[in-house]
Amino acid sequence: MSDRGVDVLAIAAHCDDVELTCGGTLVRCAEQGYRTGVIDLTEGEMGTRGSATLRAEEAARAADVLGLTVRLNAGLPDAGLFNNQENRERLATMIRELRPRVLILPYFRGRHPDHRVAAELGRDAAFLAGLKRFGPPEPPAHKPRKVLYALSYREDPVKPTFVVHLEEEHFRRKMEAIRCFASQFDGSDAAGEIFPTGQPLYELVETQGRHYGSLIRSSYGEPFYTEETVRIDDIVEMPVRSL
Ligand SMILES: [Zn+2]
Repeated sequence: MSDRGVDVLAIAAHCDDVELTCGGTLVRCAEQGYRTGVIDLTEGEMGTRGSATLRAEEAARAADVLGLTVRLNAGLPDAGLFNNQENRERLATMIRELRPRVLILPYFRGRHPDHRVAAELGRDAAFLAGLKRFGPPEPPAHKPRKVLYALSYREDPVKPTFVVHLEEEHFRRKMEAIRCFASQFDGSDAAGEIFPTGQPLYELVETQGRHYGSLIRSSYGEPFYTEETVRIDDIVEMPVRSL
């Protein structure tokens, strides 16, 4: 494994996406001793607020708060993300360098087209990264074994496959990482897939985090979806009460 190798890699369209959708899970994984990484696919240069330079500085600060081992930017065009062969090759090479065991992607539906494309592009690039004859021989082929879709803020009629339980401290650090993006979120009441309710954005993220926590009878949580079925070996010890 290279120095930059990670156990868990989150890929998202814009700097600040992973903080909103799976920041608490990344904090928790790092605390559990796993090496965590993020690839932001674009530099967010089309954002209404701030600038690409400012967002890069904010992303670096947030990476420290999340305890990431590595945070890279693929430099693809913001608001013009495509799942084409050139972008798959670029991302597959980055995945081969980082050699993640688990990949976290955005959910494959979204109001921002970049979010939808990031989900497809990430999954396809990860598959191709595992083909020995795809692309240059170095870095060597590598395929993550698990793909999780971050489901936070989605309204689609799909239940999360599971919710990651977050302790108070994990959620506090998620919020701290989100607040690093002051240029995007200070004074804001909506972002990405989060529709406005009149609450300040930070409060809205907390409300949603508490809602997902309530689904597993805990204070805070982050929801995920997997295409494959979760295996259970002991039905007597299954968590989350039914009655
Ligand atoms: Zn985004």
